[in-house]
Amino acid sequence: MTATATTTGATTNAEFFARAQAAIPGGVNSPVRAFRSVGGTPRFLVSAKGAYVTDVEGREYVDLVAGWGPAILGHADPRVIEAVTDAAARGLSFGSSTPAETELAELVEARVAPVEKLRLVSTGTEATMSAIRLARGFTGRDLLVKFAGHYHGHSDGLLAEAGSGLATFALPGSAGVPADIAALTLVLPYNDLDAVRAAFAEHGDRIAAVIFEAAAANMGVVQPSHRFNAELVEIAHAHGALAISDEVLTGFRVSAAGWWGLEQGETAYTPDLLTFGKVIGGGMPVAALGGRADVMDHLAPLGPVYQAGTLSGNPVAVAAGVATLRAADAEVYRTLNTAAARVAGEVSLALDNAGVPHAVQAAGNLFSFVFGDKFVGTGAQDYASVQRQEAYRYAPFFHSMLEQGVSLPPSVFEAWFVTAAHDDAAIDRIVAALPAAARAAAS
Ligand code: PLP
Repeated sequence: MTATATTTGATTNAEFFARAQAAIPGGVNSPVRAFRSVGGTPRFLVSAKGAYVTDVEGREYVDLVAGWGPAILGHADPRVIEAVTDAAARGLSFGSSTPAETELAELVEARVAPVEKLRLVSTGTEATMSAIRLARGFTGRDLLVKFAGHYHGHSDGLLAEAGSGLATFALPGSAGVPADIAALTLVLPYNDLDAVRAAFAEHGDRIAAVIFEAAAANMGVVQPSHRFNAELVEIAHAHGALAISDEVLTGFRVSAAGWWGLEQGETAYTPDLLTFGKVIGGGMPVAALGGRADVMDHLAPLGPVYQAGTLSGNPVAVAAGVATLRAADAEVYRTLNTAAARVAGEVSLALDNAGVPHAVQAAGNLFSFVFGDKFVGTGAQDYASVQRQEAYRYAPFFHSMLEQGVSLPPSVFEAWFVTAAHDDAAIDRIVAALPAAARAAAS
């Protein structure tokens, strides 16, 4: 595909960005794409295949964004494209039930045991928003507990920022969020069970649910500490509240059963509700909430909690999700894990060689880096410490990689994503670019 086939006039990334800024707020449809935290011109992409993306100037990049997570098989995997093409030929949207929706629900339920029933929606934001309404409807309570640095989409009550001190009621995290709505959310420091206990001791009979990223990956990657999820769920249950594990990012990426599948034995936990997005749609708009049947059956039409969607369970989108989950076998996860370990290790080595103090932050095959002496050997465990890193080192690193044909997440506070198509050739290209990028980060 050529640039001129997609629009008139513009041919370079800079020209497309200028046009986009005149037509679209900030030139983007989701803020991080605007490169605000690294500066420079966003790349306007026209195609993607395997481990690579191509921009309007015809430049190819090894991609470590993977559509922000969905593309575990690699971009434009033939099995997914064929499923989507077949489904599209049979009609784009019926607004009626289809056999494939049930198949997708069954695939999820077979992989993630706490999911007894599943409801499909179109975005992760909808999934968490609906899960919270369901938890409130089920418990008859209003308060919600979340953790600083955890992202659950952009619905009002979840765009809440911590006030000062522990266990404070939140302030709006965005203009346009009513203070009264933010005040229903308690924001706690991550990996701090004492803060959780204190919040539940004080407000436990008013808390409907605690929502948490199964492993945090929206402030960079921050793994839950040993038994954090398990004890969190226990505390919530002891106070009659529900536990909502947000696996929009980790689900079907870190293992076939998501982060839940990695925490077995001593650290096992059973959330009441889970939310999914990204991989479950294989790159198309599918997300879901699922969990205990008795809770899920409170959703309309069986129960009093209203939730609906014109495009929910869209047949073309569901076809991509089914094809992706079917293809994601043990070999895919082995490849993802190997590729992630190799990339993370090579980046760390290059940073060491250039004398850049840092730590690798990993959760399964998700990883990112924190910069600064104080993280060496310890890493970062919460949002406050992640924010205290030498973030200025990332922009020159990022741009050096981009110039050398490697596309990284355009913010130090994002996870890096590999795909099963990141073979030795793709990773060798990343490795070749690292020394110069690490030197740029050192200066
Ligand atoms: N929850 C988590 C953990 C996420 O990472 C995201 C998006 O990155 C969301 C929810 C929101 O999903 P969406 O962007 O599909 O609305």
